[in-house]
Amino acid sequence: MLIIKANTPEHAHIALRTDGEHIVALAPNLTPEPGEIVFDAAGGAMLPGLHDHHLHLLAYAAAIDSVHCGPPQLDCAQALAATLATVNTNSEGWIRGFGYHESVAGDIDRYWLDRVVPGRPVRIQHRSGQLWIFNSLGLQCLGVDDACGIDPFERLDGKPTGRLYGADSWIRERLGASMPALGEASRRLARLGITGVTDASPGNGLAEFRHFAAESEAGRLQQNVLVMGSEALDPSWTAPGLSVGATKIHLREASLPSFDALCDRIEHSHRTGRPVAVHCVTLVELMLAVTALQTAGVQTGDRLEHAALATMEAVDLVREAGLHVVTQPNFIFERGDNYLASLPAEDLQGLYRTGSFAAAGVAVGAGSDAPYGDPDPWRAIAVALDRRTRTGRVLGAAEGLTPDSVLDLYCSDPQYPGGTRRSLEVGGVADLCVLDRPLARVFADAAAVNVRLTISRGRVVHCA
Ligand SMILES: [Zn+2]
Repeated sequence: MLIIKANTPEHAHIALRTDGEHIVALAPNLTPEPGEIVFDAAGGAMLPGLHDHHLHLLAYAAAIDSVHCGPPQLDCAQALAATLATVNTNSEGWIRGFGYHESVAGDIDRYWLDRVVPGRPVRIQHRSGQLWIFNSLGLQCLGVDDACGIDPFERLDGKPTGRLYGADSWIRERLGASMPALGEASRRLARLGITGVTDASPGNGLAEFRHFAAESEAGRLQQNVLVMGSEALDPSWTAPGLSVGATKIHLREASLPSFDALCDRIEHSHRTGRPVAVHCVTLVELMLAVTALQTAGVQTGDRLEHAALATMEAVDLVREAGLHVVTQPNFIFERGDNYLASLPAEDLQGLYRTGSFAAAGVAVGAGSDAPYGDPDPWRAIAVALDRRTRTGRVLGAAEGLTPDSVLDLYCSDPQYPGGTRRSLEVGGVADLCVLDRPLARVFADAAAVNVRLTISRGRVVHCA
């Protein structure tokens, strides 16, 4: 295939030829060979395929068929009750919701759900991805009853509240549910120019790796996947388009591990040849993660997921430690108005920093956290530049990136988020996307970008 009249960060006007999986020619003018497919970029930008450094493929695929239960679509208990009631009359079987947040109806439990949907099993996932809330019929389907307590459910006065933390694989086992096909999720990502993702689910092990490999083999999963996850993953496993990434360590301030246990886990991961990716949202989680990493010893590729709240002292510590940060600029857009209404001024300054990390020399990559965030990287790039919330208010103006550095969020090596930017080169793998406008106009209004062509490992996976 030949792409002509494209605009890259390095060349105002360039043509590129692919053959099989690779880029075989790159020059201002290339003549089509007999029978060659020619794509006219018409001056549009051509970039390395974007890599979403943090999402959850299985949850994203499942969410496509699920009910959205949180902001901004739903903002109060009545709206959630009405939505669930509508789904109740229009479908059957389990009702599966996602994206819940306390701002809708507080810490809801099985009894709240029973009042809204008494006659069908319901399960709703919190937008953190770490909590499920079941109604009583849902608990029954799982074989959980009031009497015995040999299940991982939260209990109050001996009775399960319907709330379950961090137990996705337990639920799947109990329900005998198979993992979802990834075709539609993959197509949606391809339409956005995404040719690679990092799956950041902490529970990923052999079953998940095999599922990704099978979906990739069947042609449904078209992105390259760096699979982070539990200690069960073995870095020697390979499959076309797949590789094993960091050990994902999920910190939750309400039930933190001991400092020594955390250091042991980090050291163990390093001994097995894997870096670690530590989930830290609160400042306490961030400080614990950095301190433990410094004590255990930092290895190349160690990373912090989210670093959602950081003081300038924390930014300095992260730089000193030599850690990568994978952040979600999209949350400033999606959740920013909520933050502005609910957080104290000193916290607002430290939310999802990008500019301060970048200025300090910390490598910053971006991931959408889909399905808990919108997977659109162009919206995220726009927000990383202008820091505007959904209603147009600016949150943390000093944290905006410049057009020079904003592409580093998505165009860096999957193993080193925010590190050296990948570029299109002869001999390199043909992972790329072509946009509907030149680069200069991308930065002026990134959220409006449409992707015309996406090529993943030499195959056209999206063509508008
Ligand atoms: Zn996540």
